[in-house]
Amino acid sequence: MKLVSRPEYLFALFGNLTKLEGVGRRTTTHLTKIRISKPIDFLYSMPIGMKRRKLVKVVNDENLNDNIIIKVIVRKHIFKRFRFPSVIEVTDTVSKFNLVFFNAKREWLVANFPINKDLVISGKLERFNNVFQIIHPEYIQGSNQTMAIPTEETLYSLTRGVSQKLFFRSVQKVLKMIPKEVNDIEWIKSNRISSNGWKGYKESLERVHNPQSDDDFSLNSPFRLRLAYDDLFSHQVCLALARKKVRDSSKNRKPILGQLSQKLVKKLPFELTKAQVRCIGEVKTDLSNPPPMFRLLQGDVGSGKTLVAFVSMLFITENEGQCALMAPTDLLAQQHHRNLTKLIKDIGVKTAILTGKIKPKVREQRLEEIRTGSVQIIIGTHALFQKDVQFKNLQLAVIDEQHRFGVKQRFDLIKKGDLIDILVMTATPIPRTLQLSNYGDLDVSIIDQKPLNRKKINTAVISESKTEPLLKRLRLACERGEQAYWVCPLIEEAENSELVALEKRFKTLRKFCPNLNVKILHGKMPEEEKNDIMQSFLNGMIDILLATTVIEVGIDVPNASIMIIEGAERFGLAQLHQLRGRVGRGDLHSSCTLVYSNHLSKAGKERLEILRNNSDGFHIAEEDLKMRGGGDPLGFQQSGIPKFRLADLGCHSDILSWAQEDARALIHRNPSLKDAEGYNIRLLLFLMGREESLSLIRSS
Ligand code: ADP
Ligand code: MG
Repeated sequence: MKLVSRPEYLFALFGNLTKLEGVGRRTTTHLTKIRISKPIDFLYSMPIGMKRRKLVKVVNDENLNDNIIIKVIVRKHIFKRFRFPSVIEVTDTVSKFNLVFFNAKREWLVANFPINKDLVISGKLERFNNVFQIIHPEYIQGSNQTMAIPTEETLYSLTRGVSQKLFFRSVQKVLKMIPKEVNDIEWIKSNRISSNGWKGYKESLERVHNPQSDDDFSLNSPFRLRLAYDDLFSHQVCLALARKKVRDSSKNRKPILGQLSQKLVKKLPFELTKAQVRCIGEVKTDLSNPPPMFRLLQGDVGSGKTLVAFVSMLFITENEGQCALMAPTDLLAQQHHRNLTKLIKDIGVKTAILTGKIKPKVREQRLEEIRTGSVQIIIGTHALFQKDVQFKNLQLAVIDEQHRFGVKQRFDLIKKGDLIDILVMTATPIPRTLQLSNYGDLDVSIIDQKPLNRKKINTAVISESKTEPLLKRLRLACERGEQAYWVCPLIEEAENSELVALEKRFKTLRKFCPNLNVKILHGKMPEEEKNDIMQSFLNGMIDILLATTVIEVGIDVPNASIMIIEGAERFGLAQLHQLRGRVGRGDLHSSCTLVYSNHLSKAGKERLEILRNNSDGFHIAEEDLKMRGGGDPLGFQQSGIPKFRLADLGCHSDILSWAQEDARALIHRNPSLKDAEGYNIRLLLFLMGREESLSLIRSS
């Protein structure tokens, strides 16, 4: 039997969260913030520690500051005036002590702590004014209740609105929901299992969530390793399926004469760099060979990746194909569109822009043009690849600065027309391990050279106490006609905090520079307003653009020569480098000032100094990696490269190699995943939520 859709025995694991006892609608909303949307997700949330509780009969100094479980009898309610905590006086077998509650409702306390009632409670034992107390006991149970308070409870990294208790209990419940059908099956090759001493999927999950010793917390415990393998292997199976699909296909190619692109290059006011020429050559070779292209174009900010993309697209349009260029933001899409349209004005290629914000009527018309093929190059945001967008003959997709472009997006594209050439562009130097994990195998072109006319950007690192002199210099420069970006950090916790920071800064700028035109730009503004502001900045009508990191990618304003980044310590180095790359694009001498908060540590300052002393993004990323160690090396969390839930790429890179090796061998041996072996692998894909890749296997 072949699994083509989720088998019934998995329905509960993938069902509604609210079916779990204790999980209500509100909790569900909170849970989605930590990527939990179905019961099985609980199992894929790895523990971070352990809470141990001691069973004790009496409170005494020996147990001070321990988490204890103790039987008590309720003796007295002490409700005081407003702002004082409520106290429930209880006794153990020997002495009196207090349960203390802040902001608890009186009715709730009365209902839960009837006088003379026997209870079992748990919490941390403390002492206040020489009286023992437990503040807000975690568990409060009638002594006859059968559900014991766990003496060991695994801890998880949680979000507000979700308690450890609820989470732990849910995990335990979901563990019990793993059906027999799953437990009877093993998808990992037997020699991997035996040589590593691995246990089954269910047993490994059980052990990871109920660790028996500190060793079980180690990322290198056999239980964790097995699960890491499941995660990475299933992902690699998807990639291997995609790779097979691509390798097996061959495109009918016409020779590329390159006439259109030559016209474009001739019109440029500058020479292409050697690196650009080389990368263009590499793309051209790909586009001349039968298998579809899958290439990553890496190059520091300002290295001129866009031109490589433009030239590549003309290779395609010359032979009557359509191209799509997807940018991460509307603003950038518009700029690409403007630039390209200007460059190819008299070349006879028609371009169009398609973003999410386009009015329905215009959109209809665009879609029609795309469908009939009257436009050849379509530039836009992710709206480009929505279902209703049908291309007449899409041949090449260029993805600009989109780290989120992973296997899922690749599948979506493959569905648009199955032999699409793909060029992914990025300024983030992605280490080999991450490339492998995100894209499988892809070819890489690197622009390792900047245009010659680039000037060094003078970078300064200053404390926020020096803001005043900075403001004075800024005012002078702007009065000379220079333009500046001023970036405020986004503080995630509080809602709208970015606006608060921006507005506060706006006021001081206005006060200090009353004659200058300062405008605010942030992500939540209506698209049109953003565009208007960018346009006026580009035209020189705005002196200071006060912005969030929305300006991080793309927009090119040659006259902007000053970059000021406030709260610089809050950004990743790679991101700072990217922001800095927004200036130094014209003839003016450019500067970048990193302003750090007063309390910044020495190490924090040293980190920022890396930026002052380096202008090479790849080098900066490496330094950042060294300083930060593992964890989230290059700020990839921000950049969106997927994090595996059960694997840690920093420490499981061996497992990643095995997973890749095994996945390739598997797909080579059993490309349509049939027989018992195929069934087992399919089940794994379903369990890991990666079944979408099965659509790549032709139904047979
Ligand atoms: P990025 O690689 O960061 O995407 P862009 O493609 O936006 O960089 O290029 C940045 C700027 O450099 C653009 O204004 C572009 O016109 C210009 N540029 C590109 N190639 C060259 C070159 N060979 N010589 C001079 N300027 C160039
Ligand atoms: Mg770019």
